[in-house]
Amino acid sequence: MDLPDAPWRSYVAGQWTAGPDARHYEIVDPGRTRDTVSRYLLATPEDAERAAAAARDAFPAWAETTAGRRSDLVYGLVDLWQTRMETVAEIVSLEMGKPLAESRSEASRAVAELRFWAGEALRLGDRTFPSARPHTEIATIREPIGPVAGITPWNFPILSPLRKVVPALVSGCPVVLKPALQAPGASVHIAAMLHELGVPAGVFGLLIGGGSDVGAALVGHPAIAGITFTGSTDVGLRIAGDAAARNVRLQLEMGGKNAAVVTRCADVDRAAAEISAAAFAVAGQRCTAISRVVVTPDVREPLERVLVEKAAALRVGHGLATDTVMGPIVSKDQFTKIHGYVEQGVRDGARVLTGGGPLTGGGYDDGYYYAPTVVTDVPRGSALAVEEVFGPVLSIVPVDDLEEAIDVANETRYGLTAAIFTDDMDAAHAFVRRSQTGMVHVNHGTNSEGQVPFGGMKQSGQGAYGIGDSAKDFFTSLKAVYSMYRR
Ligand code: NAD
Repeated sequence: MDLPDAPWRSYVAGQWTAGPDARHYEIVDPGRTRDTVSRYLLATPEDAERAAAAARDAFPAWAETTAGRRSDLVYGLVDLWQTRMETVAEIVSLEMGKPLAESRSEASRAVAELRFWAGEALRLGDRTFPSARPHTEIATIREPIGPVAGITPWNFPILSPLRKVVPALVSGCPVVLKPALQAPGASVHIAAMLHELGVPAGVFGLLIGGGSDVGAALVGHPAIAGITFTGSTDVGLRIAGDAAARNVRLQLEMGGKNAAVVTRCADVDRAAAEISAAAFAVAGQRCTAISRVVVTPDVREPLERVLVEKAAALRVGHGLATDTVMGPIVSKDQFTKIHGYVEQGVRDGARVLTGGGPLTGGGYDDGYYYAPTVVTDVPRGSALAVEEVFGPVLSIVPVDDLEEAIDVANETRYGLTAAIFTDDMDAAHAFVRRSQTGMVHVNHGTNSEGQVPFGGMKQSGQGAYGIGDSAKDFFTSLKAVYSMYRR
């Protein structure tokens, strides 16, 4: 395999690269902080400028490649990926802590999404229209927008980068990827595979560097025609301000504060199982994690009891331990932030039913292990009720009825996803229609599928939905073509 020697570095204009003054950077295992997992040489803003310029130079030729060639490239990537996914899954678990089973499932999901895009490459056409004039044909055709910057978070280090890079290449856009510094290892593998598959210099670039310096230099570069960002709302909105001034195409996939409403629901056990899985997967560090349960009095007592049983039974441990169900938190900063939210919640009047603090003793003292936590009587409008915690903390907000439940579910700046668990089809229908979210689930946890558009409303998203075929609306522009022909 064409993987560079450590320390790993950026990939610019078809070469692994680091300047003479590049700073060294090490990632420690969040589950065993005395272990160094990987070593990197950091990119600089000058590297970002070179990568953007290389993408600009590569654009005309890549835009002319055939759909067949782009499709073959993605099928080639599927084949290579399948030989390496186990290695990559292990790096992901070591760098950001999620259990190996979750990293493997992310790697397998990548196979499905890559296959989808290999097919989509051959379906990128658009529409024809009847004309009001004789002997006239009208069509809209799709053209690549140009070089694209892909900025990604650390919680899905495989899928987030691939969801930027692959639709870009399929659409004819060169792409420069800047993954989060907490877990860039999977992106190095993606770069190595694209290099091995012969992607021309400049068509793909990788920058391993910080957000406020390298990321900002990349998204602000005049050669960049589109920015596809996945990450926190605060950073996304900052990027949006700068992009608006340049009228650059923008796709933002940002934070969430996802509610599950439970009302008139006979099968509380099943509802609790779906909620618990969606709340504690990746230790709650998913944009689509269920973070709040909004419950009516008829089901409150049994639901709280089963949610507590399920949270308390989760086996928390190191990502590579075979019996681990929930891993450590990604970093000390994130760990401290999560605990701060729980302490604030208690000061605001919430009651901890289980968990509520760091796990201690044994191996727990060596990493950032937080107890799966369920908190109830969370007051409406308090921080725990409306802000994204991004950790294994499930807040229960008791309400009187469905009307109040819908109000509470919508009472946040976020609008990513939501769920309702109920046997009452009228209640389900009302919730689907009135939920201010880009995605909504009925008797179903907040998980998504790779062929379906994915995105958020309000301050959770902007621009074309990523995942599924809607992503092409970001990477391509429509051109309307009017042709008159002789009889
Ligand atoms: P983050 O916003 O801190 O960082 C995301 C990326 O932006 C990183 O690569 C970072 O280096 C970069 N960045 C930071 N400042 C920048 C700047 N000024 N210019 C350019 N790039 C910059 O987010 P995170 O902590 O990595 O990820 C967690 C967040 O991501 C959560 O809020 C979560 O909800 C969100 N997320 C959303 C989705 C979605 O699809 N909606 C998916 C996964 C994660």
